[in-house]
Amino acid sequence: MTTGLVWDERFAWHDAGLASTHPWAEPYPALDRPEAKRRLWSLLQASGFTDRLVPIKARPASEEELCRFHTPDYVARIRRLSETGGGEAGENARFGPNGFAVASLAAGACIEGAEAVLSGRIDNAYALVRPCGHHAEADRGRGFCLFANVVLAIEHARAVHGVRRIAVVDWDVHHGNGTEAAFYADSGVLTISLHQDRYYPADTGGIEAIGTGAGRGFNINLPLPPGSGHGAYLAAFERVVVPAVSAFHPEFIVIACGYDAAASDPLGRMLCTSETFRAMTGYVREAASHFGAPILVCQEGGYSPTYAPFCGLAVIEELAGQRSGVDDPLVGWYAVLGGQDLQPHQKAVIELAAERLRVAA
Ligand SMILES: [Zn+2]
Repeated sequence: MTTGLVWDERFAWHDAGLASTHPWAEPYPALDRPEAKRRLWSLLQASGFTDRLVPIKARPASEEELCRFHTPDYVARIRRLSETGGGEAGENARFGPNGFAVASLAAGACIEGAEAVLSGRIDNAYALVRPCGHHAEADRGRGFCLFANVVLAIEHARAVHGVRRIAVVDWDVHHGNGTEAAFYADSGVLTISLHQDRYYPADTGGIEAIGTGAGRGFNINLPLPPGSGHGAYLAAFERVVVPAVSAFHPEFIVIACGYDAAASDPLGRMLCTSETFRAMTGYVREAASHFGAPILVCQEGGYSPTYAPFCGLAVIEELAGQRSGVDDPLVGWYAVLGGQDLQPHQKAVIELAAERLRVAA
């Protein structure tokens, strides 16, 4: 397999501001900091694995590309705030000076990743970007996200390449509410989100949200209980994700890839290891191979600077079908944690989602 990688040092320059402006909260930087993603890039470099990847150059998304999903007013507002030192794009989505430039570069990087795989230049691509995108809505940013990178990559695939059937697999620990909203009434995009139950946003991501109108049956939420680990995620893929993606016959698959379901993440309350992320990537790669569907992986969250790099390396190794020779120094600690096996209350949720799939079919 030939695998492309997009990274630009400016992604590390995005400033997510303070975690809270509460008068009694001593100022503290937001948990979306550059280190986790920059250290993944560093690990790829240090291990020499970048030599086996095809570099893809990021470029800013154009106004027209941003407005394929976002409202012109919202795009203009972010640009204006950015020119005057930064501000708040919405709920928990602060940015600093030049935030517009970095966020449009992240969106453009995902579009370029889509372009590289859909033009047949490479088999699959990993867009290692900041800020993330899956919470962003048409007219506001949310949850560290300014522009909806995945949605914009998909709209590029449709507008430029005429791709009709696209599947999104979002394993970030938070619900992919922005991606869901973009395609909720759309049967051309199957959106699947596995996330921690009622975490963020707390009022979206329920199993009952299955799409509306023509999109009914094309949105799948799998709200997993806190504490879910390797066994639960693999069961979710075997019972729900793979059958749903396979039945959809996608021409293109996008993974919204967060590492905040990893055991040591400061935000998520899950137990995944690098081997979980490797296995999930393998399931998607295997499903994609049946349809000749290229895969684009877009970086979402993941806030452990020490562990996210090893999770990312595992995903990229699996995409490329090669090993770097680098061992994950922490997987032994996390793999033996109590609760890594599928638990009955986790199985109940997965079975409910699988049952809904059977009914829909
Ligand atoms: Zn997240």
